[in-house]
Amino acid sequence: MAFQFNQVHILLVPLMTQSHLIPFTDMAKQLAQRGPTVTILMTPLNSLRFQTFVSEQTSKYRLKIQFLVLPLPCRENGLPQGCENMDSIPSPDLVPNFFSACKFLQEPLEKWVLEKMEFGAKPSCIVSDFCLPWTENIAIKFNIPRFVFHGTSIFSAVCNFRIVTSKVLERIKSDSDPFLVPDIPDEIYVTRGQLPRAIRQSPGESLSVKVNEFKAAELSADGILVNSFEELESKYLNEYIDIKKKKIWFIGPVSHMNRDEILDSVTAHDNCSIKWLNARTKPGSVVYACFGSLTHFSYSQLKELAIGLESSNRPFIWVIRKDDFYSTRRFEEWLEEENFEERVKERGLVFRGWAPQVSILNHPAVGGFLTHCGWNSTLDGVSAGRPMITWPMFAEQFHNENLIVKLLKIGVRVGVKETVENHRRDEDNDVQKGLPSFVTRDNIKKAIEDLMDEGDEGEERRRRAKEAGEMANRVVEGGSSFLNVSLFIQHISEELKHQS
Ligand code: UDP
Repeated sequence: MAFQFNQVHILLVPLMTQSHLIPFTDMAKQLAQRGPTVTILMTPLNSLRFQTFVSEQTSKYRLKIQFLVLPLPCRENGLPQGCENMDSIPSPDLVPNFFSACKFLQEPLEKWVLEKMEFGAKPSCIVSDFCLPWTENIAIKFNIPRFVFHGTSIFSAVCNFRIVTSKVLERIKSDSDPFLVPDIPDEIYVTRGQLPRAIRQSPGESLSVKVNEFKAAELSADGILVNSFEELESKYLNEYIDIKKKKIWFIGPVSHMNRDEILDSVTAHDNCSIKWLNARTKPGSVVYACFGSLTHFSYSQLKELAIGLESSNRPFIWVIRKDDFYSTRRFEEWLEEENFEERVKERGLVFRGWAPQVSILNHPAVGGFLTHCGWNSTLDGVSAGRPMITWPMFAEQFHNENLIVKLLKIGVRVGVKETVENHRRDEDNDVQKGLPSFVTRDNIKKAIEDLMDEGDEGEERRRRAKEAGEMANRVVEGGSSFLNVSLFIQHISEELKHQS
């Protein structure tokens, strides 16, 4: 019996945080466009955030995408009521509670699968977040193929793997000593202070235990989907495949596949940031500064950044998180006392809340992206063909910085030396300023000058960034990633054929 793509039903299980929910919903559309039905697990508040995007897809293109909405037991796990997304966790100490709460989704999800099975409509496969190892239990219990989705760069995964397996950290004496990442095709130096916390921790500590659980669950998966594209990290593809020893589909940048609709959407056109950009006459003149959904700046760092942006004398849009519990209120008072926005109003916009990042980056007035190097933001910058100023904060972001600056040569470093993870809650000005994670106004000003430079070096960087953007276009418009999405669905339908 021949299986059609429209007989395939894919269950997506994302981690409830913006940088995972966004690529999962983007991926849902890509999968549904080829015929399958796609169900995405959501919690009530997250479903509201993504409802518009999904209902547009379902009504306009008749795509079969649906939400399965299950409540997240927040209070029961020591989280404030409504804390359904990692961007609303009020303290880093509560991150483990969030992961515990997510585990409680397993039981209701199993019930849902059982109900589907009673009607002969068992999902054909599960695509689960790398960070949700409990999905393995459901896959085994109901004999459903499970694939793991990775939303990080291949390069960072290879670097981390080599650092761990070579045990090079055992020889490193201090957080600031640079060492060569062993056994990779390029000469890349990092320091211990720049590495993800899970790698810096010794094996028994909580985060590394958690990451080991993720890796163990990946071992039993039937394959891996990666939000990157073959041409971007080509030197590291074989290394990655060799390490994972599984079937892998590189399907990214998934957000870029939806770019045209995002750019055409009324929400983006109506946004004050886009209206502000429309009034800029010089193409490529604006620096867009945004640090993702999870970064917390200290009060002193926010002030330093404000002064750095002002002294650069370049037009800018700076996105400040509204829900940053740590320092925003105090900083807002400072902005008012200093009359900052009035002072810069001819050429600077301070944007509070959730910015339409993809639309901003693709606006012709934008010429550079000051980014924390989160993988989704990195892909947004690459896809839009924009050169970047790199200011990594935590997790694998220092590896992404090396990818942007050393390998792709489309960025300049702001000069941050270490992750913020150890220091971010220390609000004392003087202490903050001495830290290796602190970036001075002069560093910021210089990085902006270097990036926006109109001389040969700046032009070369812009040319390479534009080329990377064109490459991203090609892979999603009939190129490798487009093809890999179809090959993935074909793989699932072949599996179904064998099972029947
Ligand atoms: N983003 C956005 N508007 C904002 C901030 C972030 O659209 O104001 C999106 C951005 O396009 C990206 C995601 O949020 O898709 C951030 O993911 P990333 O991996 O860069 O960083 P994280 O949030 O995990 O630190």
